[in-house]
Amino acid sequence: MPADAKRDARAGDGGEPPRAPVAIRVRLPYDGEKALAEGYGGHLSRAGIVLATERPWAVGTILAFELVLATDQVALRGEAVVAKQTRPAPGVRPGMTLRFLHLDEGSHRLLDRICPPPASAQNDWVLGIDLGTTGTRVALVRHDAAEVVPLGRDPAMPSAVAIDSQGRMLVGARAKALGVSDPASTVTGAKRWLGCRFDATCAGRAPFRLVRDPSGDAAAELHGQVLPVTRICTEILRQARNLAQEALGTQILRAVIGVPAWFDVRQRAALRRAAIAAGFSVELLVSEPAAAAVAYAAGRQLPRRRLAVIDFGGGTFDATVLEVEGDAIEVLATGGDSFFGGMEFDARIGNLLAERFEEEHGVDLADDPNAQQRIRDAAESAKIALSSAQQTQVVLPFLALRDGQPLDLRATLGRGEVEELCADMVEQLAEIATEVLTAGRLSPRQVDELILVGGMTRMPAIRRRFQVLFGRTPVVDLDASSAVAIGAALLGHANRREYGSLGLRDVLGAPLSVQLPDGRRETVFDRHTGLPAERHLDVEGPPGATELRVPVYQGRGAGSAKERLLGALELRGLAPGPAGRVRAQLTLSLSSDALLQIHAESGEVREAVELATVDALVEPPLSVIEPAPAPRPSAGASA
Ligand code: AMP
Repeated sequence: MPADAKRDARAGDGGEPPRAPVAIRVRLPYDGEKALAEGYGGHLSRAGIVLATERPWAVGTILAFELVLATDQVALRGEAVVAKQTRPAPGVRPGMTLRFLHLDEGSHRLLDRICPPPASAQNDWVLGIDLGTTGTRVALVRHDAAEVVPLGRDPAMPSAVAIDSQGRMLVGARAKALGVSDPASTVTGAKRWLGCRFDATCAGRAPFRLVRDPSGDAAAELHGQVLPVTRICTEILRQARNLAQEALGTQILRAVIGVPAWFDVRQRAALRRAAIAAGFSVELLVSEPAAAAVAYAAGRQLPRRRLAVIDFGGGTFDATVLEVEGDAIEVLATGGDSFFGGMEFDARIGNLLAERFEEEHGVDLADDPNAQQRIRDAAESAKIALSSAQQTQVVLPFLALRDGQPLDLRATLGRGEVEELCADMVEQLAEIATEVLTAGRLSPRQVDELILVGGMTRMPAIRRRFQVLFGRTPVVDLDASSAVAIGAALLGHANRREYGSLGLRDVLGAPLSVQLPDGRRETVFDRHTGLPAERHLDVEGPPGATELRVPVYQGRGAGSAKERLLGALELRGLAPGPAGRVRAQLTLSLSSDALLQIHAESGEVREAVELATVDALVEPPLSVIEPAPAPRPSAGASA
């Protein structure tokens, strides 16, 4: 092939694709199959692979390729055709999508391991997952009945990941156990930072060492190892999947996963990526209160009524009002707080215990992370005990040393005392729920049923407060801890059946806005917009500009701390229109699980300029593409 034909094809400028296969070697920075699956699994399928490269070949080019890892090990070898080019744009790397034509035996085996065959060839089960801040639960519908699938010996697995002193990763119960003796080794509560950029101001709120990963996102540092939060969630989901598969004796590929209702677009995209990397095909992300409502309503053939779902777990609070009629469920209003959960109660009770210890022994435990961790765990146990007892004893032997002598913590806590200590937080819950009702133009009296889910709603003071707010007793025939997993499993099952699926319509938890080139802020989707939704928006640049930059935000109150920058759409190389100004039409689409896609077209030439998703802000690493050492002449030779 002439050298310039090759250059044209790579420049992507309309040059004809060469007729003969072009031999290339693609190098990816992973040192083994496991790392490849974890780091690149989202860009690899049984049908093809997405490669980020500065100079993609023209669509239609046949590539005889070898994909090698950092160790020089050949991972995939065969022929592929360039099916799509991604044009370069800020925030979107240039690249190409290859569709496999032939692969050799070793490549087929690798794909079977990394991307197993579609579930239709195996079973049709969909795991419902409640990835809680502190604990993870899963459920499944078998023989038309939903059941919780135990994760190991317990129905719940701690949402904990640890690195031990030898650098090995532990997940779940073993990670939590290690955290008792070595708190610096363990992460719990990581879900709060999923999809979040690192922010120094909130680093102090993390019960682990929160750092910035190379992409700028939040990560945990454990014994010198930096684990991005998405990776932590992947490990938890993978372990939950493995334990569920062991319990069921079969492979599980599909999942419906609960998300806090107010999780923004970026957080949802991060959860989806984490689940895909854990080996799941994600059928749907469902808001946790909506899943709980499904668990409650399924099979009851309820007449039209409004439900308030109050979901207060280990790390987050959600308040949602839904309308149910038979199997149809529509979310009317939703809101909550991602940094408000049982952990805050544990910390408050723990502080009281530490103060008592200091008063009695004169020893301040503030700089002793082991003692702090033990106190937090004891505070949680006391809090749980006080839900059924009026009084409980806390005993922590050998909590500290003074003059070489071991000191024990011994304290008695009463329910009334703890209720008084936490009264302002209980009140805060009621305030958030009231705000949600007001935003949905609803009054507490317009609610027909009160559903309390999440472990913290077992606390009598919290039950009482919501009973007073809504003027009714909560429903009792629903397991508060497993409702989200059960509802997610029911939705997954219904969506896979050919008949009578559960109809669920969700809403956007927080408004989405863009900043126009003239600095004005435009709300594109209001809070409580029904999903899915699509809006069109024309944007115009200043005179003489050939670029447009449109930052996208989500959250309440433009410019307030509650609002977050999701990413910026950048369009370059635009031709000015007749008035000397560049223009573009944006189409912003929200899926039924509130994932966002943005499509932009230049107004004058009616041609797609760039397809951008906010998800694309997190990109595959750049592949290094080199000429193959020897030409690979035919498919036969590579297969
Ligand atoms: P979840 O995220 O729904 O599993 O809820 C976990 C949170 O609920 C943790 O903060 C637990 O300490 C708390 N919790 C669990 N059971 C109880 C109980 N009986 N009383 C009070 N809090 C509880």
